[in-house]
Amino acid sequence: MNNDPKKVVTRFAPSPTGFLHIGGYRTAIFAYLYAKHNGGEFILRIEDTDRERNKKEYEDNILESLKWIGLEYDKFYRQSENVNRHKFFLEKMIKEGTAYISKEAAKDGSGIIKEIVRFKNPNIDVTFVDEIKGDITMNTTDLGDFVIAKNLNEPLFHLAVVVDDFEEGVTHIIRGEDHVSNTPRQILIQRAIGAPTPMYAHLPLVLGGDKLKLSKRRGALPITTYRDLGFLPEAILNGVAFVGWNPGTDKEIFTHDELVGAFNLSKVQKSPAIFSEEKLEWFNKEHMKMLGGEELEKRIFGYLPENMRNRKIIPIIFERISKFGDIRKMIEAGELDFFFKQPKYAKEKLIFKTTPPEKIKSNLEQAIKALENIDENDFITENIKNALMLIADSLESRGELLHPVRFALSGLDKSPDPFIIADILGKNETLSRLQKAI
Ligand code: GLU
Repeated sequence: MNNDPKKVVTRFAPSPTGFLHIGGYRTAIFAYLYAKHNGGEFILRIEDTDRERNKKEYEDNILESLKWIGLEYDKFYRQSENVNRHKFFLEKMIKEGTAYISKEAAKDGSGIIKEIVRFKNPNIDVTFVDEIKGDITMNTTDLGDFVIAKNLNEPLFHLAVVVDDFEEGVTHIIRGEDHVSNTPRQILIQRAIGAPTPMYAHLPLVLGGDKLKLSKRRGALPITTYRDLGFLPEAILNGVAFVGWNPGTDKEIFTHDELVGAFNLSKVQKSPAIFSEEKLEWFNKEHMKMLGGEELEKRIFGYLPENMRNRKIIPIIFERISKFGDIRKMIEAGELDFFFKQPKYAKEKLIFKTTPPEKIKSNLEQAIKALENIDENDFITENIKNALMLIADSLESRGELLHPVRFALSGLDKSPDPFIIADILGKNETLSRLQKAI
């Protein structure tokens, strides 16, 4: 129970019937940030009353995901553990005449008569405040006397949600837009059991980049997949908070604490929110930068085999990744191999456009001479560049030198520029590769 009338209490109430995707976690993040911004309490309630579809695996995944992105809950409930209270209110409603037992033939055509419990609908207009959509009024007549329990022992979703929110002292229900149509039913039940109506905030849909709805069944990935791809949890928190919300300024990169400080519902957009993987990668890259050199190096090394842990290749790797898992792909694709072993390539690859092979050969010889003159201790990108550019600029086209040098060093059609590679390889290895090319 919430005894402090001013205290904000929000909840995230997932049903563990599938892997939750970005849309689900967006709801969790907004409910969490709203509570924390207001010095309130954030509840996690696992709505596990659908025994046939619930899976422990899904519940574990929700807990793991929330922990990973740093959403700590103040209280934890499991809906199934409150079933006695659901029954208590069900009986109370029947006694008071706001609900009744209805004997009806089972839908399966078996002829079995079931005692289901229906809500006695007063057929009225229900108005509620929605912090995002404004006031919403709906007439309940069309809902008829809707079912609230399969029988006296099995209360259904709407009743369970209302009783739980009441008893847990929830003041603000922040949830997906798909629940708007449930709200009038739930408000009628609140009134019947004497529960106050909380504030509502129904969040706009989350659509994919293709403007189609993300759903548990289609397209959307569980949050733990992003973890496994090597995203940073702080970037996921930041990126997902921006799905349908912005602080009203240009600032986009936020830490956890900054999000708590800045979040409010008035800046949640009304139109559907777009989730884009590329934008999430951008958030991730920004958060990677924020780790700072030393930490970044440590993390990147964590993805590299021991023989590749060379400090000098860190900037090259960093430039080409947006999440740490990309390093695995670079290694698998052999993109880093040339740093550690002589590349193999077809000799024709050394030729630049229509430049005759003899010319390429003499250019490479000049390059070797120039590089030999650099002292081993001074063999760094800048000096290498100066030496080679002096030759390149004297040629008809710079490519006549820079292309064969780059290829001789990397053996790849695409690679960082030759000066950086030479610096990383060191003087001896660089000269040996150029020699081999000749
Ligand atoms: N358990 C419901 C769901 O997973 C949410 C109920 C609610 O937020 O009121 O969609």
